[in-house]
Amino acid sequence: MNAEIIAVGTELLMGQIANTNAQYLSARLADLGINVYFHSVVGDNPGRLRACLKQALERSDIVITTGGLGPTKDDLTKETIAGALGLPLVLHQESLDYIRDFFERLSRRMCENNVKQAYLPAGCMVIPNRNGTAPGCIIEREKKTVVMLPGPPKELIPMFEDMVFPYFEGKTHQIIGSRMLKVFGIGESEMETRIMDLVERQSNPTIAPYADMGEISLRVTARGHDRDEIESLIAPVVEKIRERLHPHVYSDAGETMEEVVLKLLAERGWMLSTAESCTGGMLASRLISIPGASRVFDRGFVTYSNESKIQELGVNRETLDTCGAVSRETAEEMAKGLAERTRTTAALAITGIAGPDGGTPEKPVGLVYVAAFLNRRMESLKLNLRGDRQRIRSVSCLHALDLLRKMLFGMV
Ligand code: ATP
Ligand code: MG
Repeated sequence: MNAEIIAVGTELLMGQIANTNAQYLSARLADLGINVYFHSVVGDNPGRLRACLKQALERSDIVITTGGLGPTKDDLTKETIAGALGLPLVLHQESLDYIRDFFERLSRRMCENNVKQAYLPAGCMVIPNRNGTAPGCIIEREKKTVVMLPGPPKELIPMFEDMVFPYFEGKTHQIIGSRMLKVFGIGESEMETRIMDLVERQSNPTIAPYADMGEISLRVTARGHDRDEIESLIAPVVEKIRERLHPHVYSDAGETMEEVVLKLLAERGWMLSTAESCTGGMLASRLISIPGASRVFDRGFVTYSNESKIQELGVNRETLDTCGAVSRETAEEMAKGLAERTRTTAALAITGIAGPDGGTPEKPVGLVYVAAFLNRRMESLKLNLRGDRQRIRSVSCLHALDLLRKMLFGMV
């Protein structure tokens, strides 16, 4: 089976938003073993959408549209596609009741326009929308399948996961399962060299790498007849990848680095505090984003100036004068001072030059020191990071957490 995706929306053509729906749908269709051959983007224009659909139906088994299911005049995907397929729109009472309810719950008045959203192509399968008003639908016609989904990702993704994915799973008479490995501290090309033979040899499971902000995610996906079969296909591959990439795989369940570190500390009943210079609270913020962080996270300081490093953390003025704020010595004094003041078992400190200005030949942009103090043991790292200010800050946080993770496992 092959598929194509038509994203509808003038906003996309104008460059106001990125077509992340197509990216998401492609990745999930790949997991189903469905080949995606084309992505199209078309504005809110019935003539051009009709032409686009016609071409898509000539060359693809499955056509998925996103966007244009809303209540306003420019939302015309459903009308256009139903028209092109010669299907009348009929009232779907359940959807209308749901939309009425939706507005009542929000104490908002329902507009007449919203009634239009409850009209769906005759004979279709309705996809309820838990997070909005526009239902989606699946239409089967002459061996072709047309799926319409709304534009907002927070509506589209749950609808796809709840109904569209299982629908195609049923068609392929197989079920699909996957595990997400998270990898940090190794470059993409180095990783590729280490696992290339595995990637190339496999067709079930498949291994799909995806790199972002210094991290690599590897999705291992298998098809089978039941969960046990899938797990028995995935487990040995995951084990092999873990061995080959040791100690860089920090999760095989798709967790973030901060989740992993918080979990490890929570298991031991240990508390963590942070002191940040160039990351300016980003590390604390990432930790606090995780539900349940309060059991582990004590406090975080943003000590940006030299004076604040002295006052809040007790860094020696001589250290700052002789070694500079961006130095291993300062990072370690930050972490140690922090642990002493907070009495937490674990303390992390980050100091560096995030750029774009402020670099010198001896201390270039991207020079960052991280220090971890755990149970009175100190470890620190000197990093030379690439990228813009945001990337340097973000990757610094990951290095700090990864250093602590390795200490918790006794890997350093
Ligand atoms: P609504 O009921 O919100 O109007 P809709 O189905 O009519 O939903 P659109 O009006 O086309 O969808 O888009 C609504 C919003 O959804 C856009 O402003 C944008 O934020 C998001 N969106 C639309 N298409 C995409 C896409 N292809 N990728 C990512 N986001 C999208
Ligand atoms: Mg709309």
